[in-house]
Amino acid sequence: MSRLMGQMMQMPLLISSLIVHAARHAADTEIVSKRCEGDIHRTTWKALELRSRQLAQALARLGCESGDRVATLAWNGYRHLEIYYGSSGSGLVCHTINPRLFPEQIAWIANDAEDRVLCFDLGFLPLVEKLAPQLSQVKHFVLMTDRAHMPASSPIPNLACYDELVEAEDGAYAWPQFDENTASSICYTSGTTGDPKGAVYSHRSTLLHAMGAALPDAMGCSSADVILPVVPMFHVNAWGLPYAGALVGAKLVLPGPHLDGKSLYELFEAEQVTFSAGVPTVWLGLLNHVRQNGLKFSSFRRTVIGGSACPPSMMRALEEEHGVEVIHAWGMTEMSPLGTLAKLKAKHAGLDDAQRHKLLETQGRVIYGVDMQILGDDERPLPWDGVSSGNLVVRGPWVIDSYFGRSGSPLVEVDGVSWFPTGDVATINPDGFMQITDRSKDVIKSGGEWISSIELENIAMGHPGVHEAAVIACAHPKWDERPLLVVVRKPGVALEARELLGFFEGRIAKWQIPDDVAFVDEIPHTATGKMLKLKLRERFKDHKLPSA
Ligand code: AMP
Repeated sequence: MSRLMGQMMQMPLLISSLIVHAARHAADTEIVSKRCEGDIHRTTWKALELRSRQLAQALARLGCESGDRVATLAWNGYRHLEIYYGSSGSGLVCHTINPRLFPEQIAWIANDAEDRVLCFDLGFLPLVEKLAPQLSQVKHFVLMTDRAHMPASSPIPNLACYDELVEAEDGAYAWPQFDENTASSICYTSGTTGDPKGAVYSHRSTLLHAMGAALPDAMGCSSADVILPVVPMFHVNAWGLPYAGALVGAKLVLPGPHLDGKSLYELFEAEQVTFSAGVPTVWLGLLNHVRQNGLKFSSFRRTVIGGSACPPSMMRALEEEHGVEVIHAWGMTEMSPLGTLAKLKAKHAGLDDAQRHKLLETQGRVIYGVDMQILGDDERPLPWDGVSSGNLVVRGPWVIDSYFGRSGSPLVEVDGVSWFPTGDVATINPDGFMQITDRSKDVIKSGGEWISSIELENIAMGHPGVHEAAVIACAHPKWDERPLLVVVRKPGVALEARELLGFFEGRIAKWQIPDDVAFVDEIPHTATGKMLKLKLRERFKDHKLPSA
């Protein structure tokens, strides 16, 4: 039997269509950047689209060909956004590198991705000068600034000035049309274990993700929003906001390297930001600043917090002290990154405050486009009862099926269908609210029972004397592993272990209360702001628990 085909226009889903749309329908909507140079720069979607075309011409003039990687070491700013659109839009691949990684890792990643061009912010000049001899594939180094800020001399051969490259072109360039499955960008996983691996996104996956991200039950972005992504554009494409922002035609505010509480607060107020997104650690700084100075937000309405578990105390503080809705989200580099967001359903309207919060503190429900399951140790699906906890697997058009340049598939098969194993351990309730209890390697196994480190950390973070808390497994002769609580106290607070452990009583089953507390000056973080438990486990590997 012959199939009746749809009779719709064939238009590939290309990233260039986002910027063309924004230039036409949000022409005068602003993009405001706090530059590395220190000043505020203002442009519009229309002007940015023209500069992106000029950049596409400039990259072609440098000899870049379809599929070549254009790497960035850059903060959130309009030039970085131009590179997003100018490179991907012209068929090149935008490779954002996390500048907070160790220099050897940056070099490793740039070489693994075979980057041809490296564009970087002024602040990274000393770093790139040191790294340049190791970057064997990079043919062009481009400093993202104007002529006035170019160094008089540099050991980097043929260091180009970004503004000069762009401004030498006339912009008479038509965005090319090609297969929507073409690679658009690459991000490397943060690599807390083993070498980082590249996730290669396509134009199609990026567009579908942007549409999903903008939905009301996801980030709920609209043209009425002023969006300030605190999450860096090198951390999984700022969670899709540079694309979703163009899709809805929102005003964007890009903070550059100025991410301390004071600078962020001033930018939020000056530009009347309504919506933001970032990892929990950045909100710690911002909340401390507004608290210490008795400040209030005048326009800030909602924020997505994800990348690691949002402590309930942080959610409460933003909601109750500032009227800011916190949308807790979960995702990963391999998922572009959005998977789930905690938004209530109509049936939850009548819930009391405690029940509402119980749901809002979970990692939330999937966006259409992502499906998930939890698997038991026998690789069979577990029930969605909010209690059974298993290995979380996902699938969807913006989930990877392989890593860049790696043979073998990371996927697992369940009943003939492929799923990506996230490495997270979770429960799912009957309404589809997923709750991460741990990374599989962070789970504490005490006498055969699992203890959630995240749950213990959340309780500790609720203590007024705790600045930051991490829970790791400590070897125990009887129970195999027992939880050790590692805490950074708030400045000037004389908090003792006994008092802090007493705080857990009545908040969790007695057998799950940590056995001991270690006070430290600092908890190490990964380059994307996640707690580096690997380092903590190393540091406390010989720690003697009082119960041992
Ligand atoms: P990355 O690819 O570096 O963004 O890391 C992804 C991992 O971060 C996930 O697999 C989770 O372990 C963790 N993660 C992300 N969001 C959350 C969240 N809201 N709560 C707990 N863990 C999270």
